Amino acid sequence: MKLLYKGKAKSVYERDPGTLVMEFRDDLTAGDGAKRETKAGKGAINAGISARLFQVLQDGGIETHFLRFEEPNRHVVKKVEIVPLEVICRNIATGSLVRRYPFKEGQELHPPIVEMGYKSDEYHDPFLNDAIAMALKLCTREELERMREITLRVNDLLKGFLLERGIILVDFKVEFGRWDGRIILADEISPDTCRFWDAETRQVMDKDRFRKDMGEVLEYYREVQRRVLG
Ligand code: ADP
Ligand code: UDP
Repeated sequence: MKLLYKGKAKSVYERDPGTLVMEFRDDLTAGDGAKRETKAGKGAINAGISARLFQVLQDGGIETHFLRFEEPNRHVVKKVEIVPLEVICRNIATGSLVRRYPFKEGQELHPPIVEMGYKSDEYHDPFLNDAIAMALKLCTREELERMREITLRVNDLLKGFLLERGIILVDFKVEFGRWDGRIILADEISPDTCRFWDAETRQVMDKDRFRKDMGEVLEYYREVQRRVLG
């Protein structure tokens, strides 16, 4: 297979025209790749979690790029034209939100906040609004509205699914692509791209353990996998 792209956490291969294979690697990065580590088994854990969550979303009526999971660490997906936006949805204030605004750490957000970042390592993923996204010709107004609508639906479906398994969905990032003239969900949904807290203890179960040197990164990723697949 031809390697099309090697990102920070995944390698993307072309299987045949229109179909890609995303290989989840064991690399963990933070701060635009400034901090890096390799944790054996991380790729397979994330591929498993993401496959299950994409299945939940498809069952809930959301159109996604996901075709099948090839164990241990590959997803076969529809090739899309990625919209270079990171769409972030927050149920609880933490991370960059409390650094930028006077929210209290851990404060619940009703309704959830959806915000967008420009997906660019060079510009460090700056937050943007609709006017900037359109002026940069990243997408149309209709596409922005559609991405927001799908993101809120993703939030509802995943929040419920995870809470039944003792996990609070604090916030997450998703990416979208164009396929057959429509906007569909792409990329991954995993502890690398979401914040997950234990519903009882509020223990951090996601990449913040790596970002903040909290230790036991893989142990908590495995626990998320156990609960999501169980
Ligand atoms: P990054 O580019 O942020 O370092 P990754 O290491 O996760 O990220 O690389 C995966 C890349 O594949 C991302 O750039 C993502 O936008 C892209 N991608 C995800 N799903 C698809 C898809 N269905 N079609 C084309 N590109 C995709
Ligand atoms: N996120 C991500 N990729 C990014 C930026 C954010 O997956 O490039 C996710 C992150 O894991 C969290 C959510 O988006 O679940 C909100 O992140 P925040 O803006 O708080 O980022 P921080 O700067 O604190 O990492």
